[in-house]
Amino acid sequence: MGERFLFDDLKWSVSREAALKRLRVSEDDMEDFDEVFAKTLALIRPVYYVGVERVTENDGDGATIGSEHFVSRVVSVHLQNAGEVYPYVGTSGRAAYEYAISLGDDLMRFWADQICEMALKSVAVDFIRRMRELSHAEQLSSLNPGSVIDWPISQQKPLFDLLGNVYEKTGILLERSFLMRPVKSGSGILYAGGKHFESCSLCPKENCPNRRAPFDKDKFEREYLK
Ligand code: SF4
Repeated sequence: MGERFLFDDLKWSVSREAALKRLRVSEDDMEDFDEVFAKTLALIRPVYYVGVERVTENDGDGATIGSEHFVSRVVSVHLQNAGEVYPYVGTSGRAAYEYAISLGDDLMRFWADQICEMALKSVAVDFIRRMRELSHAEQLSSLNPGSVIDWPISQQKPLFDLLGNVYEKTGILLERSFLMRPVKSGSGILYAGGKHFESCSLCPKENCPNRRAPFDKDKFEREYLK
């Protein structure tokens, strides 16, 4: 097993103004919102857990990284010339998630959930900055199971197995459905080199608030089929 790093000191912020704007909070709800905002912020503890591994086999239909085999033409193509790769998981934290799901009021629960999402988005920027330092790479791209067209969410299992001890290190639990709890968590494999890649370009999900690139419906056939 390669090295493992735990980042629990990453920088992040969520401003009250940005949250008010995103969540369109009405004047009547302001007092309730401020209570949820303060409590959620106090409980958010972002953490990222990352491994340093090498691709040991790449047969065009998938790639073996450390002890695990990942089945995906897209993964195989992007990791063709990859040296080190960096499997990772990250979350805005279990305590804030548990507070959010404990709220009986739907709107308040939605606010807390969205504040966690804003925190995760914010901390992801610092995570990538730290990973650039660690990898000495100017640019890193990320492959994310469940987002890449031929890499289903079930491939979270080998990703979690590869990292090992994910729950103990981060509080992230992988459910039987392969969804992560807390829900405001992310996972994937970072790699350096080649043209910058955004999973969003291969992800058909509609109305995703986090989309970073338009969906290109012909890209898979054009660039990945043998
Ligand atoms: S469109 Fe949304 S769900 Fe799809 S890869 Fe991008 S961020 Fe993820």
